[in-house]
Amino acid sequence: MRVGISEVFTSIEGEGIYLGTKTLFIRLAGCPLRCFYCDTPYALSMGNGRYYSMDEAKALIGSRVKGNTFKANFTGGEPLLQHEAVRELARYVRDELRLKTYLESSCYDASRFAYVLPYIDICKIEFKLSDAHAVMDSHHGRLLENELLCLRYAVEHGKATYIKVVVTAQSRREEVEELLGMISGDGLGKGIEGFVLQPVNGTGEPTLEHMLALYDTVYKYHPNVRIIPQMHKVMGIP
Ligand code: SF4
Repeated sequence: MRVGISEVFTSIEGEGIYLGTKTLFIRLAGCPLRCFYCDTPYALSMGNGRYYSMDEAKALIGSRVKGNTFKANFTGGEPLLQHEAVRELARYVRDELRLKTYLESSCYDASRFAYVLPYIDICKIEFKLSDAHAVMDSHHGRLLENELLCLRYAVEHGKATYIKVVVTAQSRREEVEELLGMISGDGLGKGIEGFVLQPVNGTGEPTLEHMLALYDTVYKYHPNVRIIPQMHKVMGIP
């Protein structure tokens, strides 16, 4: 088995509830989605990665680990595109490097998510709103079903789990409310550690008023909602 990796580096976690932690980023190559705000366009094509045997990939990852690293993020691109390799690398990172593993996925395929889950400690479940244009409109319902299933698997397996939703000027309060209804209806809300609204960076940024309206929508269900921008962009670091 070979694995396409775009980059491996240590930096500061710039998103979500683990913001500020020293993190090893393992960026897998390739993603089947096309969010208009994607900030890693160089990692979308499988062809842009460098290909490694599993032993080479482990050696690369091991060589990039620095002291006091809090966790290792499997990110992308979309790591589940190479789920077999990610499972093996996550096992290596957790069992041999003794680091917490964190999966950062669009959750587009719940069966692949379930396959890697035994070796993942922390799950960021991302829900793509329709204004992300991540997939064709006709496929958005299927994406949502997979995201909800991934959330269920993560919560039921007792993983540290939080939700992230990127919001833009076009994000509709009704769609967010509908999403929260589905999460609560499934009884999954109690199992999450946080709910992050992440304002899109650059084109399409929501206004403060809009962000507060979305915050209020989530707050009714999850008082632990936070609006957190991508701090690594603010700091100018990768
Ligand atoms: S899922 Fe992530 S990597 Fe893929 S297009 Fe969207 S933002 Fe980019």
